[in-house]
Amino acid sequence: MNAAPSMPVFFFGHGSPMHAIGDDRYARAWSALGVSIPRPRAILAVSAHWYITETAVTAMAAPRTIHDFGGFPAALYNVEYPAPGSPELAARVAQLLHPFEVRADQSWGLDHGTWSVLRHIYPQADVPVVQLSIDLGRPAQFHYELGQRLAPLRDEGVLIVASGNIVHNLYAYQWDAPEAPPYPWAARFEQQVRDALLADTPHPLIAYDTAMGEESAPSVPSPDHYLPLLYAVGARRKSDALSFPVEGFEGGSMSMLTVRFG
Ligand code: ZN
Repeated sequence: MNAAPSMPVFFFGHGSPMHAIGDDRYARAWSALGVSIPRPRAILAVSAHWYITETAVTAMAAPRTIHDFGGFPAALYNVEYPAPGSPELAARVAQLLHPFEVRADQSWGLDHGTWSVLRHIYPQADVPVVQLSIDLGRPAQFHYELGQRLAPLRDEGVLIVASGNIVHNLYAYQWDAPEAPPYPWAARFEQQVRDALLADTPHPLIAYDTAMGEESAPSVPSPDHYLPLLYAVGARRKSDALSFPVEGFEGGSMSMLTVRFG
């Protein structure tokens, strides 16, 4: 009997949607990761851009590509990522999260938090993808616990991909200087997150808004891009190797850090 290899878990800092069509160092690094891991049976994606008032899971057989941004070149709106869905995985996710209610969604699809990264990892769009929403009314602890409940998927050939940005401040973002060094508060907050990950202590990551000092307010002005990290941390196992395969900042206020468990 061949047991499926346990899959790693990723948190991706996705940054600008333009990485979807770029050939920059982030896009190249994501492409390299795709060939470094066992091929998954399916992907469960938790994107910062599906931040709604409930927990829902895409349950359609053919999710649409959502262009959920404004003011970008036409080439970006022309991108399609026609990966199939997986009603079977959607049902399995609902089963694992029970008794929490999970709505089987037929209207969302794949948003750019998911496809701008997956387009480089699996350019053929031939691995089925299911998205899980983030319930904006729930505390951080809830999102961590959902990650814990989803961990068994790793032994079922499912790659868990969380996509956001650990530091994400568009007000401070230097649009005219994408290569600007990080603001000191941004660098300090990201370092605190790295330290907590390296120490394998989830508490400060969950209580990020009180446990990490004043840097948390400008680094996480709204929780949407941070919370996907907690799904990945929840699915972590003690035996997992930890690495940061992609690092960097954009515009001084957007951490592009990728976290890999396992
Ligand atoms: Zn985003």
